[in-house]
Amino acid sequence: VADVLTFGETMLSLQAEGPLATGAPTRTAVAGAESNVAIGLARLGHRVSWAGRLGADEPARLALRTLRGEGVDVRHATTDPEAPTGALLRERLAADVTRVHYWRSGSAASLQQPEHLAPALAAGARVLHVTGITCALGAGPRATVTAAVEHASAHGWTVVLDVNYRARLWSRGRATEAMRRLGGSVDVVIASDDELSLIAGGEESLEEVTQVRRLLDDGAREVVVKRGGDGADLYTADGEHFHQPAHRVPVLDTVGAGDAFCAGYLSGLLDGLPPADRLRRAGTTGAFAVASRGDWEGLPHRDELALLDVPPGSAIR
Ligand code: ATP
Repeated sequence: VADVLTFGETMLSLQAEGPLATGAPTRTAVAGAESNVAIGLARLGHRVSWAGRLGADEPARLALRTLRGEGVDVRHATTDPEAPTGALLRERLAADVTRVHYWRSGSAASLQQPEHLAPALAAGARVLHVTGITCALGAGPRATVTAAVEHASAHGWTVVLDVNYRARLWSRGRATEAMRRLGGSVDVVIASDDELSLIAGGEESLEEVTQVRRLLDDGAREVVVKRGGDGADLYTADGEHFHQPAHRVPVLDTVGAGDAFCAGYLSGLLDGLPPADRLRRAGTTGAFAVASRGDWEGLPHRDELALLDVPPGSAIR
């Protein structure tokens, strides 16, 4: 039985050093919020299964090889014989200005159906991790998330939802409607501060504690609020509140910080850490992501978790 089951869209990520139209050198990588979380967890020694849907193509080979190489179980990943694996292109236009293009409409992941995930669900897990991105991909993926959440909830798994709102994929109103529907079955809600009203379904002007109370009243046991460089907060159904300031690290690339943070938090949950320590581990893995290039490449292995605590500039032996 896996510690964590996750699924979602994993894509080919082309990372151009300059404008593509000038023929800029381009690196190939693998991108996807859920697979980032899976890699983060595997590096921390957890058994994690990623069961997304890919095309029968070269990007899929790269994705599977990468995930396998990182120790993620992909035996329940499925292949669409006709639809392609999604792709994105990130062009670096200036030092810290990038432009992103996506080719994901009609992708294999956007055509995922509940039956594709059934074997993964039957295999069991302690934790189900889903994100709002999958809900945004189409009716099939949305139904797959709903089926997964219902199955996990009925079988006593911990259900974790990372809101991960993507304005390019859908409106806030539609996202609220879809995610409120999962409501009572979600145990742990992870949201950025600007996503809180979206998942709580309230006015954006409502105070944070009011939004959080709504989610806890709906049945969540924990609500985690991410604030980028200002750290994160955790509210529990027991009425506890913890704040974790962000690590002070040089910021190289913030993409993937939220996923890294999520992996650290789930790792803490699986290890049975007390709330403040789970939040601290999440802050640590989030900081690794911003202090290194790539969406997931810089995530820590378990024996590297303490590296950010050494004095800046020191050599590691
Ligand atoms: P993304 O969508 O880019 O992955 P997000 O909005 O989901 O990010 P953030 O709130 O930006 O998530 O970041 C998640 C966590 O990562 C923060 O709570 C914090 O712990 C850590 N983090 C983010 N930015 C920084 C930073 N500049 N310095 C240190 N830690 C950071």
